[in-house]
Amino acid sequence: MDFGTKLIHNGNEIDKNTGALSLPIYHASTFHQFDIDNFSKYDYSRSGNPTREALENTIAVLEEGDSGFAFSSGMAAISSVLSIFSAGDHILVCKDVYGGTYRVTSSFFTKFNVETTFVDASNIGEIKERIKSNTKAIFLETPSNPLLKITDLRAVIKVAKEHNIVVIVDNTFMSPYLQNPIKLGADIVVNSATKFIGGHSDVISGLVAVKGKELSDKVKFVQNSFGAVLGPQDCWLLLRGIKTLKVRLDYQQKSALKLAKWLKEQEEVAKVYYPGLSDHPSSNIHLSQARGGGAVLSFEAKDDAVAINFMKKVKLAAVAVSLGGVETIVSYPAKMSHAAIPKEEREALGIKDSLIRVSLGLEDTDDIIEDFKIALSTK
Ligand SMILES: *Cc1c(COP(=O)(O)O)cnc(C)c1O
Repeated sequence: MDFGTKLIHNGNEIDKNTGALSLPIYHASTFHQFDIDNFSKYDYSRSGNPTREALENTIAVLEEGDSGFAFSSGMAAISSVLSIFSAGDHILVCKDVYGGTYRVTSSFFTKFNVETTFVDASNIGEIKERIKSNTKAIFLETPSNPLLKITDLRAVIKVAKEHNIVVIVDNTFMSPYLQNPIKLGADIVVNSATKFIGGHSDVISGLVAVKGKELSDKVKFVQNSFGAVLGPQDCWLLLRGIKTLKVRLDYQQKSALKLAKWLKEQEEVAKVYYPGLSDHPSSNIHLSQARGGGAVLSFEAKDDAVAINFMKKVKLAAVAVSLGGVETIVSYPAKMSHAAIPKEEREALGIKDSLIRVSLGLEDTDDIIEDFKIALSTK
């Protein structure tokens, strides 16, 4: 069965009690036990809820894991996964990781003596050098945000396996439609379902898929103990959003490629970052592990003034920090996601004040191009 069919038919789409084609939202905190000697499957919704279970089983199928877990945000998912480790453990984290992941690994887990080293994941030599006897995991994100840098997943996974290191991949920018890290040997995949999986800018959520029983049991233990579960209403929004993941992304990705090619031709644009363009330095690696360039790109305007003018004039696209919705969203890292980092440090990371990130929505691409054309013009 191909991916598009699996989105609609994965064994979790029909309510077993009534046959309803839309899974009911089981708004229940607790469940009556009909037989005190034989407790039924559900007792309390932190431990298990039928709507959440359908979503969790769905993400397991889509990411080809053995188990799935739904959390109250992408960060709750990431933090819960990282909570399977213990004081004294060491984790490698790729350098251009999502800001929230940087914060939680560099200033939160350190309080519990889980140590982190940030590495350039495109440099296998550096990864090998940084592995210590207590290194238990490597956390990757590809393509990265906002410069769309690529990590060779197969190469890193090979090194990790040689050292018995758990590989965790943040798959948010690709979603399970475009990239399946577990198929390439990763152990745990996290998605901020707030983005493409939900797809409608209406829910904050995180989904995890895990390979193998031992790691699944560990994540399940954290989910139930720590308790950062997703509520049934939000689970339903994701179940609904997931059904159109493929058609949305097929269109958004096509639109991103068209916009990337158009941007490259504009004299007000200095540089375009999009792994679907053949001149992206790692497009070969990316396309060997993903089904396309995705729907996010970024570009550098000719100078900062052009970028600021663009952000002020852009009309059709929303100006926001998120991505993956049905509406095109532009963000300005220097003043938004990366504003807390001093300018010199930002520039050392390659994030110039002329950089703009775009997440393509479902508008007609030519309308977006027209909007951008006017916004780029300083006349
Ligand atoms: C948004 C995002 C997250 C965090 O997800 P939330 O749902 O906002 O908590 C993690 N990783 C990436 C790559 C993201 O874009």
